[in-house]
Amino acid sequence: MTTHRSHAVVLGASMAGLVHAAALAERFDRVTLVDRDVLPDQPDRRRGVPQDRHIHLLVPGGVVRLEQLLPGVTEDFAARGAHIIAAPEWRFYMGGDRLNLTDALRVVGATRPLIESVVRDRVRALSGVEFVDGWSARNLTTTDDRTRVTGVRLRSEAVTDETRTLSADLVVDTTGRGSPSPRWLADLGYRPPNEDRLMVGVHYTTRLFRRTDGDLGGCRNVVVDIPPGSRRGGVALAIEDGRWLVTLMGMLGERPPTDITGFTDYAGSLWVNDLHEIVRDAEPVSDAFTMAFPAFSWHRYDRLRRLPEGYAVSGDAVCSFDPRFGQGMTVAITEAIELGRVVDRHGNQQVGKRLLAAARPVVRDAWDLATGSDLANPDVDGPRPLPWRLTQTYLQRLLPVAHHDPEVAAAVIRTIGMLDRPQRLMHPRTLRRVLAGGRVRRERDEVPTPPAGDAVAGGPEGVGAER
Ligand SMILES: Cc1cc2nc3c(=O)[nH]c(=O)nc-3n(C[C@H](O)[C@H](O)[C@H](O)COP(=O)(O)OP(=O)(O)OC[C@H]3O[C@@H](n4cnc5c(N)ncnc54)[C@H](O)[C@@H]3O)c2cc1C
Repeated sequence: MTTHRSHAVVLGASMAGLVHAAALAERFDRVTLVDRDVLPDQPDRRRGVPQDRHIHLLVPGGVVRLEQLLPGVTEDFAARGAHIIAAPEWRFYMGGDRLNLTDALRVVGATRPLIESVVRDRVRALSGVEFVDGWSARNLTTTDDRTRVTGVRLRSEAVTDETRTLSADLVVDTTGRGSPSPRWLADLGYRPPNEDRLMVGVHYTTRLFRRTDGDLGGCRNVVVDIPPGSRRGGVALAIEDGRWLVTLMGMLGERPPTDITGFTDYAGSLWVNDLHEIVRDAEPVSDAFTMAFPAFSWHRYDRLRRLPEGYAVSGDAVCSFDPRFGQGMTVAITEAIELGRVVDRHGNQQVGKRLLAAARPVVRDAWDLATGSDLANPDVDGPRPLPWRLTQTYLQRLLPVAHHDPEVAAAVIRTIGMLDRPQRLMHPRTLRRVLAGGRVRRERDEVPTPPAGDAVAGGPEGVGAER
């Protein structure tokens, strides 16, 4: 590992910023994390992360890779009250039935503020890391010829007109979906990135409920996928302090209701009854919170010919995914690991471009998996080329097998959980089991019919509500 006697500045101290800072702390003398929010000492909500009331599943690939970056972090989660949930304790419903999960894969059951707080505390304790919170990044400073970023100008969020400049050898923008980087690049005379989008009109409504260990036979994570032709799904997750976090989801403008009666009816309208059981029987312990996610967005920095030296963009600032697939944090963690590798191999040369190239496979996989799944809904407007149609045909054969064959179920969950690349589903061993399993299944009973469309009131509304 190369250590540079130098200073890296990471803009945005949410999940992507934290893990990128963790990767850089081993490689730079000093790392400064800047956030416009004043960061809480405890797990708490904050303005800069409006999604933090809603389900935030750290999927198995994220758990494994976060351990790589911050060894022992899973134990820290558990010590702070999070549930570490092994696959047999999940109920994962997709493709018309429940996957037969027996594998030892793990997810973290916790609120987003707890996840972020545990990771923030670990990063705060790293040598050379400093937080500058309550300051927002306004613009970049560069050399006269604008080929190298030399730092960033900050403005205080507390004191009007107070500014300061941080000099840096590397500036990493992880300020999320609203990142100012396209504007900054244009101001410096660079071409800003084009944006790939897919409109999905996803709406979340979330409530917390009291949980007892006996609920749902001890199950701690229920995922009810939205089947093609439907617009409704949901997730329940056991979280700290003996609670369930239940997020009901709608797509294509469908909004799960906020009042408890409507919320309960909506849970009862899903094609699986587990969430309804929780919502109907458990004591509600919070109000309802809503959030809209209109569209996937991928800023194609990776296609730009020129980026200034000493500058990188990562996390949601590059790509944000339909949150139903639980990919964003894990993609950010993977990008952070790639950033470390890039710096080890090339020092501080062309870090931005090299990081984008190194991270492209994980972003591409996550994008294809999630957009591919959303496009199975005939009302989602987007291209459906031949490879997509072939994949769908294969998945229609594979999923019914995963309902009874634990090895195929594990292959599915390892892909969705971002431990394996999607190509792995075509491994000859899996292929053989799909072909054989399909035959066995058809002899035994009918292939499950896709669930019927949604039945309860609260129908489609306009796509594209503000976040
Ligand atoms: C409803 C919803 C549910 C989700 N569920 C999941 C899930 O289950 N699993 C999962 O892995 N991911 C999930 N995600 C995605 C996840 O929240 C993000 O991928 C993750 O937080 C990483 O994003 P980020 O750090 O790049 O940006 P963000 O989380 O958006 O953070 C950006 C940070 O930058 C700061 N900032 C912004 N502008 C400035 C500025 N000018 N100067 C200084 N600071 C600035 C903000 O205060 C904030 O701290 C979900 C997202 C949504 C919307």
